Amino acid sequence: MAKKLMEERGFFHYIDIVTPKPIEDEELEKIHDKKYIKFVKEMSQKGTGYLDDGDTPAFKGIYEAAKIRVGGSVKALEMIESGYDVAINIGGGFHHAKRSSAEGFCVFNDVALIAKLAEKKYKIAIVDIDGHHADGTQEILYDDNRVLKISLHMYHKNFFPGTGNYDEIGEGNGKGLTLNVPLPPGTADDAYIYAFKETAVKKLLKFKPELTIIVDGGDSHFGDPLVELKLSTKGYYNVIQEILNAIQNSKIILLGGGGYNYDSTARIWTISTAEISGIYSSDIDILHDCCYTSSTNFVMNKVRDVVEKIKQIHNLN
Ligand SMILES: [Zn+2]
Repeated sequence: MAKKLMEERGFFHYIDIVTPKPIEDEELEKIHDKKYIKFVKEMSQKGTGYLDDGDTPAFKGIYEAAKIRVGGSVKALEMIESGYDVAINIGGGFHHAKRSSAEGFCVFNDVALIAKLAEKKYKIAIVDIDGHHADGTQEILYDDNRVLKISLHMYHKNFFPGTGNYDEIGEGNGKGLTLNVPLPPGTADDAYIYAFKETAVKKLLKFKPELTIIVDGGDSHFGDPLVELKLSTKGYYNVIQEILNAIQNSKIILLGGGGYNYDSTARIWTISTAEISGIYSSDIDILHDCCYTSSTNFVMNKVRDVVEKIKQIHNLN
């Protein structure tokens, strides 16, 4: 759906489309246990059951499917290394996959892998605005001192995956390089953008990444059936703008992430693609929701409280 929206608007006069190769097992072993990769392969041949406790089905061919998705993100990194400033893999962003387990529809973690592959060459920031916590990415890179991991997400009792509180800040050499912004249900454009500017933007300005990986999950949108955040497409646009202003000369890889309202997710990915590629036209404007959304006072106060705590912990005043 996103590709169609882009095609109709002539995006591919400005964007080169390339075909990725599936990732090799040896590459995956940089971030995943051998045993786990073997398990996925076997379950994929079997074609029944689950790769985790019941979220991620092991359909026939999921091993190959997951490897081509990761290959897409690795290709994006290769494009950056060959001189492009921006590369996009809408089919990437599997941020829940952990070192030795699948989780939340994610099998292999392309976000963590490309960060690992690129960290010798670049100082990297991951900015994850999917509505769920980037728990797999966090787990794999928790003590990594070359990658800043920022995740804004809904955080609430019994809400998946249950991690991502503000006091999870990294460990060892990576201490201080994990920035979690847990947001209450009902967080709309005003509170989200406020929290983003006060935390993520300040951290990015200090860190000065050379490569920024954005996980642009569409499930923070008000129309999403799984997440109760209330961003509009205009809110998303603003957040991406804030990132672009904060990272100045950084190269950018945009990955899709989740999104379970297909209509709004396709529009969000199209708008973000145009925005980071510098494509402007009135037929992009009509993809936007009519209006910005606003949070209740109750939600706004909760967000203010958590932002103050984050600013203290991360020294962002
Ligand atoms: Zn999500």
